[in-house]
Amino acid sequence: MSSLFDVTIIGAGPVGLYTAFYSGLRALKTKVIDAEPDVGGKIRYFYPDKKIHDVGGIAETTGYELVQNFKQQAETFEPEFVLGKRVTSLTKQPDETFLLQTEDGEYHYSKTVIIACGSGTYEVNPLVAKNADLHHAKTHYHLRDLEQFRNKKVVISGGGDAAIDAAFTLQPIAKSVDLIYRGENFKGYEKRATDLLASNIQVHLQHEITSLNEGNELETVTICAKPSGKEEKLSCEALFISHGVEVDFSFTKNWGLQTADWGIQVNPFMQTNIPGVYACGDAASYSRKIRIISAGLHEGAIAVNSAKQYLDPDAANEAMVSTHHEHFTS
Ligand SMILES: Cc1cc2nc3c(=O)[nH]c(=O)nc-3n(C[C@H](O)[C@H](O)[C@H](O)COP(=O)(O)OP(=O)(O)OC[C@H]3O[C@@H](n4cnc5c(N)ncnc54)[C@H](O)[C@@H]3O)c2cc1C
Repeated sequence: MSSLFDVTIIGAGPVGLYTAFYSGLRALKTKVIDAEPDVGGKIRYFYPDKKIHDVGGIAETTGYELVQNFKQQAETFEPEFVLGKRVTSLTKQPDETFLLQTEDGEYHYSKTVIIACGSGTYEVNPLVAKNADLHHAKTHYHLRDLEQFRNKKVVISGGGDAAIDAAFTLQPIAKSVDLIYRGENFKGYEKRATDLLASNIQVHLQHEITSLNEGNELETVTICAKPSGKEEKLSCEALFISHGVEVDFSFTKNWGLQTADWGIQVNPFMQTNIPGVYACGDAASYSRKIRIISAGLHEGAIAVNSAKQYLDPDAANEAMVSTHHEHFTS
């Protein structure tokens, strides 16, 4: 049987990572579990290359740099990380401890649980087109390694913010960029649509990709105009698909948690309706909730302080600030 932890944090996004650090400040034996193979949550998943300007005290950073800093800080007190494992069940045992199960059937034991699971787990909507299965290696759903697109003829499919972002990001490094979108226009993105049309990016509105070439090497995609049905072949060496993601947050209800407004309902102590279970970050819901990174960090600290006092009612309300904390002063 794996050992019993004081705190298990579900989610290694920015808030889960900071919460793990703060949990270490409070000398709690901490485990962090995430469904994704690496830490960083939405930042890693959706916008590692985006510039971020609204995290307190950091005028400008990229998603990637910010995640590296969160990770380094989270490792300060050496919590145990369990990555690539989605938590599928959470139950309170007769002895008041919690049993968590991951989808591979592994069990994890904890005295308290902090849910920092953001909006839940994500699954990208795949490209549905003839021969799509032949070219997985050249079909990308995330912009995690820009070098894969360098000097390539890139075709992007999608019309949302992420697709437009990708077109602007790839345009300076790719040989060419074609953006295929089935809609009539980029609704709500007027300024960016004007910029797109003024750029070297070839925009194909009211088109969709219907097939990729046969054979091992990706060379062309066929796009089809709507409603005429007229087909056209485009040279293509790398594909970027941005057809949105399916988000699954339903598991929180199965765990008996009260939910409200896209999140788990918490009180000012970040406590859920289950004693010993707390929520913070995008996963938590309360009046005037703001879903940004900075806001979630404070909630993580409150959740840890609540867990600490649940385990030890005589414990102080909060951790020492780092300048007074023995870990940093000795
Ligand atoms: C495109 C975009 C741009 C943004 N830009 C900014 C910005 O510029 N500034 C800003 O402050 N905020 C921005 N945000 C919001 C910001 O990303 C979120 O507020 C922040 O990521 C919340 O952090 P979190 O740790 O609470 O959740 P998340 O980052 O969502 O992380 C949650 C983690 O929990 C894991 N998880 C979920 N369910 C389970 C499960 N059952 N088992 C195991 N693991 C699970 C997920 O895999 C994920 O890694 C942006 C969001 C998006 C989508």
